[in-house]
Amino acid sequence: MKKRISVLLAVVMLLAVAMVITGCGETNTEPKVHKHDIGETKDVEFTVWDGSAITGEGTYNLYLDKDMKMDKKLVLGDMMSTSDITINLCLNGYKWESEGRIADIYDGVTLNICNCSETETTVVGKGDPYIKRAGTFYVNLEGELNVYGKINVTCDNTAERVAYGGVAEVMGKMGIYGATVTGVDVKRIPKENGQADTTTGQGGGICVNSGGELILKDGLITGGSSAVGANVFVVGGSTFTMENSKITGGLCKFYTYPNQNGEPSTSGGNGSVFIEESTFIMKNSEISGAEVAGKAAVMCNKANCVVEMTDSKIINNKSTHATFGGGMHWAKDDGVLKLSGKIEIDNNTNGSGKSNVLIYSPGMVIQDLGMSADSKVGISVFENTAGKVADKNSAAFYADSDACKLVEDNGGWALAKK
Ligand SMILES: [Zn+2]
Repeated sequence: MKKRISVLLAVVMLLAVAMVITGCGETNTEPKVHKHDIGETKDVEFTVWDGSAITGEGTYNLYLDKDMKMDKKLVLGDMMSTSDITINLCLNGYKWESEGRIADIYDGVTLNICNCSETETTVVGKGDPYIKRAGTFYVNLEGELNVYGKINVTCDNTAERVAYGGVAEVMGKMGIYGATVTGVDVKRIPKENGQADTTTGQGGGICVNSGGELILKDGLITGGSSAVGANVFVVGGSTFTMENSKITGGLCKFYTYPNQNGEPSTSGGNGSVFIEESTFIMKNSEISGAEVAGKAAVMCNKANCVVEMTDSKIINNKSTHATFGGGMHWAKDDGVLKLSGKIEIDNNTNGSGKSNVLIYSPGMVIQDLGMSADSKVGISVFENTAGKVADKNSAAFYADSDACKLVEDNGGWALAKK
């Protein structure tokens, strides 16, 4: 008999937004026949994938008929040139794991993973024994990875092979639609085998760099741990957009290692989400439950950080540090925080009490672009020095410290001692 399932492997990126989030669409489950709609094309027959290499150009429509355990990573495309390869893989309720990374996705390759089973399944890699960066997926500059539906993508880092991106390192594009990323603990990897020393573990969940793009829609990123960017680390002109999604938990610790002179040097402790020279967009989303030793649940480092929040919350996070931010920490000039709709940056703390948005440098600006009347945004300034913090006042803004108040200053608003 025919059971129709609905939906979605997107072949065309532009269609991705319209795609149904539950993953694989209408499916035909007659024995030995596995079909999905792909975009406008109905009943495309998928074939069983036995884990063998995928090398030639073209489109592959594949599904699993049993748990897949690979003994090494899958290399999709070519490190030195651009390929034209699209792979639509339905996990069909089965687990996909690897003794190494799951896959490296090179330029021109798109890997779409879905799961048409009612039961959540797992994709888990163990990192690369030779290149200690991403745990489960590496996505090159022109590569693309999309994960749809009831799939938990995670990593087994017990061998400590992973330093950047516990689950994925993304220089190209990654979309998470209705799926979960469960981060892991990534540590600094000491210099060995002639490879460059890494400064600190970066991105217990996902590391986005080199102008990469991460989209999290109707999804969850949770549970990562690292020196910086416990869950997500976004640097180098990259963009991270989350919509109808949550980022929960996240542990950022200080790490102490010998410096070049052999003396102990401590760094890290910053950001469930760490942003540097990049853009972070939150729509109808929440970041909560992070605990950091240093700077805030959302750490905006260096210049040119832009954070746009619409109908979103950064709540119930804490820094155990006495003076660094608990909710958000803005480290350098030129940062812009754009707020619209109902915003709550509230109930975040540091070691001294309330700490929601900490302006560490007075050059950044908070913009009220139409916040609702019931919004709440706590603000403080490092060491309570006055600085422009908002380009107009808003009933939503309040001073985190009773010793301070918002005052008019050169056409904008500043926090000053009472
Ligand atoms: Zn399927």
